[in-house]
Amino acid sequence: MIRGKFIKAVLLLLMLVLLVSCGKDISEGTLNQDRTAGSHSGKTTDSRELKEPIEVTKEISISAIGDMLIHNSVYNDAKVNQGYDFKPMLERVKPFLSDATISIANQETMIGGVELGLSSYPTFNSPTEVGDALKWAGIDVVSLANNHTLDRGEEAIQRAIKHWETIDMMYTGSYKDSQDRDQLRIYETEEGISVAFLSYTYGTNGIPVPVGRDYLVNLIDQELMAQDIQNAKEKADVVILSLHFGNEYERMPNQLQKDLVQFVADQGADVVLGHHPHVLQPIDWVTGENGNRTLVVYSLGNFLSGQDEFYRQIGGVFKFYISKTSKGGEQEVKVHSPEFLPTYVKYSNWRDYEVIPMYQLTNQELPNAQKHYEEIKEHMSTWVPDLKFMEE
Ligand SMILES: [Zn+2]
Repeated sequence: MIRGKFIKAVLLLLMLVLLVSCGKDISEGTLNQDRTAGSHSGKTTDSRELKEPIEVTKEISISAIGDMLIHNSVYNDAKVNQGYDFKPMLERVKPFLSDATISIANQETMIGGVELGLSSYPTFNSPTEVGDALKWAGIDVVSLANNHTLDRGEEAIQRAIKHWETIDMMYTGSYKDSQDRDQLRIYETEEGISVAFLSYTYGTNGIPVPVGRDYLVNLIDQELMAQDIQNAKEKADVVILSLHFGNEYERMPNQLQKDLVQFVADQGADVVLGHHPHVLQPIDWVTGENGNRTLVVYSLGNFLSGQDEFYRQIGGVFKFYISKTSKGGEQEVKVHSPEFLPTYVKYSNWRDYEVIPMYQLTNQELPNAQKHYEEIKEHMSTWVPDLKFMEE
């Protein structure tokens, strides 16, 4: 009996507290309504004094994948009656790409299409349907500056760009003309957060950039990059750089990569997405000369390719969050909470290519799946021990 009364009293008290706190929400205006996906911001605001300006936090998420390197085994496997269909290969990773506010991929091979004649290593040209599958999977931006950009010359680039335009895909790092290059790529989100995407490569496999057509591919050039970053910082809340660099098949970044990342951090770049080594290299936070922090993944590995050595079959989805807090006239933009989803390109006898989240792998799909998954997690979190891994 006494217990029942006690519970009643507690319930009453609880209701009172609830009523009071509800009233508080209303009196403080739109604070809670305006917050989006607050679970990752880790910020709560307690502005008990009504005179204080209202603090509003908006948040978006970005996800990034590495190399889409379409060898002949991959496009032969995608052949259907009418053209090509790469969608089944991305089916199991689609949820992780489409749930982010903006997703970006490194499209290593130009999608010049069948009219130009498809080709594989060492000078690639891929079906336009690769682009359609990326769009379907939730990709919003493609980075095009890499060592294969000039593989099949300007025609492949122009045809590819035509297709990217047809499917309304933002592309960066390779452009149709100098006017196009001058058009800074800024993604404006509904949340009111703007993100600039820049992209550069160390080289083009010895194929010279045609004279007077340097818009065809952005080369790593510190002066150019400093200018672009400066320009982007003036126009966007966040600047994300794709850098195609490093030594192939090396699982740790070299000194040149580290120096270049330090340089762009000093220029104020917010995030660096690395690729080219075809294997994963770890994630880190680098401090710029002004005390700013730059989030970097040194290499995202292969996302979908025909390469056949274990580490070259591993890639992943790199995700992070951007929050923008406005209070009075002041704004604070923060990149935070990096997460990673290791992925594996499964196939047998050069058929049935499929990108699979590693945590979902069975021992039939990959012997010792769990052991491999643990090792990849350890590798990626070398410098960020509390790195989160997506598992749902
Ligand atoms: Zn490359």
